[in-house]
Amino acid sequence: TVLGERELALRERARQVIPGGMYGHMSVQAFSAAHPQFMASGDGCRVTDTDGRTYLDLMCGWGPVVLGHRHPGVTAAVLDQLDRGDCLDGTSPVAVEFAELLVDTIPSADWAMFCKNGSDATTTSVTIARAATGKRKLLVAHGAYHGAVPWCSLRGSGVTAEDQAHLVHYEYNDLASAEAAAAEAGDDLAAIVVCPMRHDIKRDQELVDPAFARGLRALADRTGAVLILDDVRCGFRLDLGGSWEPLGVRPDLSAWSKAIANGQALGAVTGVEALRDAVRKIYVTGSFWTAAVPLAAGLATLTELRNGVALPAMARTGARLREGLAAQAAAHGVEIRQTGPVQMPMLSFAGDEDFRLATAFAEAAVQRGVYLHPWHNWFLSAAHTDEDIDAILARTDDAFAAVRP
Ligand code: PMP
Repeated sequence: TVLGERELALRERARQVIPGGMYGHMSVQAFSAAHPQFMASGDGCRVTDTDGRTYLDLMCGWGPVVLGHRHPGVTAAVLDQLDRGDCLDGTSPVAVEFAELLVDTIPSADWAMFCKNGSDATTTSVTIARAATGKRKLLVAHGAYHGAVPWCSLRGSGVTAEDQAHLVHYEYNDLASAEAAAAEAGDDLAAIVVCPMRHDIKRDQELVDPAFARGLRALADRTGAVLILDDVRCGFRLDLGGSWEPLGVRPDLSAWSKAIANGQALGAVTGVEALRDAVRKIYVTGSFWTAAVPLAAGLATLTELRNGVALPAMARTGARLREGLAAQAAAHGVEIRQTGPVQMPMLSFAGDEDFRLATAFAEAAVQRGVYLHPWHNWFLSAAHTDEDIDAILARTDDAFAAVRP
């Protein structure tokens, strides 16, 4: 077997005490026979498994790690706050400081509130929209992921039809379908929920058509619906002001998580002035929602991102990776597609409907020391240097050779 001894022993123990050995997106059984389930440490753009094997990391914790694992500035902020306390009896002042920084950074944000996960942030956004409008229906794109909670879960098991009774689906980048969905919702439309791009698993990524983004904004304005941008996956990697800021399309509410605190557990909702009162009407909270350590990490992360180095660096190294992969695939006579922004790469193989080739490539890559995924987009971090990209490419060249027809 390709898996290490400690890995195998941990899997055996996990099988006894964790259903299926692991669940959710990190269950490697869902996508690979070669990826380790367990990781022991991370540093910069490298992760090390429990058998001491080190991988160049193209998943970055599946998004949260934007500055690199164990970023010194963020780690210092975490340790400093930890030294003074994390879960205290009242909110830490760092919540105010971080909210101020978010409002200063994000043009569509007049206020901010904090939670833990992306699902908290999207669910809270929906709750705010319904409280503000007094309406129930939500327009969501067919196949889009907004979290692992009943109102938006993409898996049927354990979810009732009633949980999703007020969803009306549209096709991403198809304004006519969104208009039709709005018509179906009639005068009961609370919100339009949309991701900055189409990044559903198991399909090529699709950048947003600017006309579609503008069209949704106009549709929301015309119907009185709240426009919710789910920036959980793209946020703080593409544009600090929000992923639709370059298009000039501003949402009413934005849901954030993943990269917001470089790996500490934090989510946020930001919104426009007109929705401030709705937030005061609803009741949302959680035991850990105002824990101070992740907030301190968020403050340190955004402060670092605002220095203006990280985002351009990811755009540069991402382009280097994309060009390198394209050249390698061509040299090996393998037809690939690379889609989405270069900072969030997605690679797929022509004619590979069942992802057999993609899986073989990902397994070959991980065995050669590059951690990447067969059918979920990857993530770059600011810790990736040109040399790291070249080291990744040296290994992917071998991986392409391994899957070449
Ligand atoms: N929205 C989007 C666009 C996401 O990518 C995710 C997580 N993959 C979520 C919401 C849910 O976030 P979380 O897993 O932190 O609850």
